[in-house]
Amino acid sequence: MTNNNTIPFLDLVTPHLELEEELISIFRRALKTAGFVGGPSVEGFERDFAKFCETKHCVGVGSGTDALRFALTAAGVRAGDAVITVPNTFIATTEAISQTGALPEFVEVDEQTSNMDPSSLREYLGMLCDFEPRTRRPISRRTGRPVTAIVPVHLYGQMADMDPILEVAEVYNLVVVEDACQAHGAAYFSQKEHCWKKAGSMGRAAAFSFYPGKNLGACGEAGAVTTNDEKLAQDIRTIRDHGQVRKYYHSMEGYNGRLDAIQAGILGIKLVHLSDWNERRRQAAERYREIFGSCSVPDAIILPYAAPWARGVYHLYVVRSKSRDQLRKHLTEAGVGTGIHYPVPLHIQDAYRCLGYQKGDFPISERAAEEILSLPMFPTLQPEQQFRVVSEVANFVSLAVI
Ligand SMILES: *Cc1c(COP(=O)(O)O)cnc(C)c1O
Repeated sequence: MTNNNTIPFLDLVTPHLELEEELISIFRRALKTAGFVGGPSVEGFERDFAKFCETKHCVGVGSGTDALRFALTAAGVRAGDAVITVPNTFIATTEAISQTGALPEFVEVDEQTSNMDPSSLREYLGMLCDFEPRTRRPISRRTGRPVTAIVPVHLYGQMADMDPILEVAEVYNLVVVEDACQAHGAAYFSQKEHCWKKAGSMGRAAAFSFYPGKNLGACGEAGAVTTNDEKLAQDIRTIRDHGQVRKYYHSMEGYNGRLDAIQAGILGIKLVHLSDWNERRRQAAERYREIFGSCSVPDAIILPYAAPWARGVYHLYVVRSKSRDQLRKHLTEAGVGTGIHYPVPLHIQDAYRCLGYQKGDFPISERAAEEILSLPMFPTLQPEQQFRVVSEVANFVSLAVI
């Protein structure tokens, strides 16, 4: 296969070359002012990103993992607590929980959306927890720990079903921190509020990652917390900066978790294009659906589910196949880049053996991990490239099924 016939899983080069002059001017400005950390460039981006997410506040931090950890800490999660999330996410979600001193506990995901299943959440709280009347909070029977927070993940850029999750959180007095690290710009139609809500505007706070491959990516590491709670935003500003309220006066121990000025400037330039890039991802997803439809690829390939109450931003385009590994091999040999997000659910990762879960505890997540395959998806993906991807999938299916 020749080089120009290969289709990358992700093209991170083209969008940066298109913006090359603007991006370089950010670096020049930083050199001239020596404003490398904090300052007007960070504040400007925070204002712009809060506006984009339709939240009152945004606090720029060093990474998505920082964002999750700081949001959980500022929202009151303490050592000894239990925090609920899902097993089919990137490990940063649970690392952040553990780094606050809490223990992650898992609930199952919905078969169609691959996101937190509100009925599993209800079942877990109602049947696997005792109710502590003094704090009005559940105590996990697995660990004896008080459950204090829920972290729903908007995986692949698709929204978790937030209305029922928020309702359960209210009943059980739990904090909700959205992991929106894959969902910049996604939206959810809230029946409760009768309007569309942006990812990152629904929980007490939300975490975003600007890792280069995300829908909005820095040229390095960066992240942000969004919230409508002014006090929480202020606390996160303190936590990200060594617990300083002013220089060398520390109200607590914090972290070195600030957003650097060059990354903030770069993110500001790219944020202008984010809605357009997201729209192009949606169009590419729509086109995949049409091409798959016209190729009459049999039911052997399951396309991503788009819930009517959500507008996803297709951070990833994830299909399912019972012969995933062979399909992936076929595509690799045909020069089509793919990924698996993620091959091992967290509850059966070696790192979490200490949590005491077993294979079989979350069958939907486990089955998904064996069947999912992420196809090429990025804003500059061309229709011809998509035709080639689908025809290679169709080739494989006709070979494999017959
Ligand atoms: C990328 C990602 C993170 C972590 O973000 P970093 O910026 O890499 O620290 C957390 N959760 C999810 C779901 C992610 O995809």
